[in-house]
Amino acid sequence: MSDIKAIDKEYVANTYARFPVQLVRGKGSLLWDDEGKEYIDLGSGIAVNAFGIADDEWRAAVTAQLGELQHASNLYYTGPCALLAEQLCLRTGMKKVFFANSGAEANEGAIKAARKYAAEKKGADHFTIVTLRNSFHGRTITALAATGQDHYHKLFQPLTPGFVHAEANNFDDLKALALENKAAAVMIECVQGEGGVLPLEADFVRRIAELCAQEDILLIVDEVQTGNGRTGALYAYMNFGVMPDIVSTAKGLGGGLPLGAVLLGEKVRDTFGPGDHGSTFGGNPVCCAGALNVLGRIDDALLASVREKSDYIFSALTGAPGVESVSGMGLMIGVKTVKPAAEVVARCRENGVLCLTAKDRVRLLPALNIPTELLEKAVAVIRAACE
Ligand SMILES: *Cc1c(COP(=O)(O)O)cnc(C)c1O
Repeated sequence: MSDIKAIDKEYVANTYARFPVQLVRGKGSLLWDDEGKEYIDLGSGIAVNAFGIADDEWRAAVTAQLGELQHASNLYYTGPCALLAEQLCLRTGMKKVFFANSGAEANEGAIKAARKYAAEKKGADHFTIVTLRNSFHGRTITALAATGQDHYHKLFQPLTPGFVHAEANNFDDLKALALENKAAAVMIECVQGEGGVLPLEADFVRRIAELCAQEDILLIVDEVQTGNGRTGALYAYMNFGVMPDIVSTAKGLGGGLPLGAVLLGEKVRDTFGPGDHGSTFGGNPVCCAGALNVLGRIDDALLASVREKSDYIFSALTGAPGVESVSGMGLMIGVKTVKPAAEVVARCRENGVLCLTAKDRVRLLPALNIPTELLEKAVAVIRAACE
């Protein structure tokens, strides 16, 4: 074992079952480990490195800002923060942005905005947030409460009260829970990522949006994993023809630097006032400069190529020997394999392809700009590993 693996095992908290690989550098969709072995990256640091590793344009934007001003605090105006907020609003129709540093924090901000809106509009008893079973919203105590998977909850009681979990794709269950509990908001992932890369049914999402509009319940869409081009639309909700009141985003937005954002729609544009929420690092100029570059490049041509590559993966893996089914949207794909997913992922790794798992599926989250020839090579390795 290399020193680094031994030191990590000794000194880093034991919260991650790491793959037995020490990554040292990369370029685009290629990665190299400490022994010089090359891998094709189909994980993107869990949907974070939107344009791959050490992407030239993103790196130029980040390093230029790094040489000017790396941090200023939110006591001052800075250019990248304002310009990124403007772009996010222009691209989505949302009205204002609160910046955080991670997905869980973005969800915390979304929940705080929803609770304040509902308390002011309808009364302090309208605090409940309805989320879905099998969802994932992050690891803070409140984001865990939102997460509809008991196994994340057990050891950390008591969690933040005021969350109930409805069955995914069961509109009657969700509606009953929302009305019984005087819901402030419904929060969904359009594609449940950690839950197994499972898209919600389009009709279910549409009916939730209608219910929310009728009852003045806020619709929060957690786009932490699905956002920023991942599903072939800028944000996944755009595939469903609905307009959320609040969107949380993170992962791919920063292109590899920690950045989260809460996009606030018309109803909640002025819900937050001075002192209601804050973050020391939120809106950091270096992270925002990188994100401006990322967002600017997620245009119609890129999104079309994401959908094209998605179609290729679906058709190459659907019905392949050892593949039971393929799920997902865009370049967020789950592959249900006959062999255990972890075994397939290990085989791929030995053969130079890095994939992830989500529940019982092999999960693929390649860079949005992965070159076709690398993708084809990687898919051949996956097919062989599934057999
Ligand atoms: C990853 C993820 C989160 C948590 O993001 P962190 O940056 O790890 O806090 C929240 N929601 C969804 C849907 C995610 O995929």
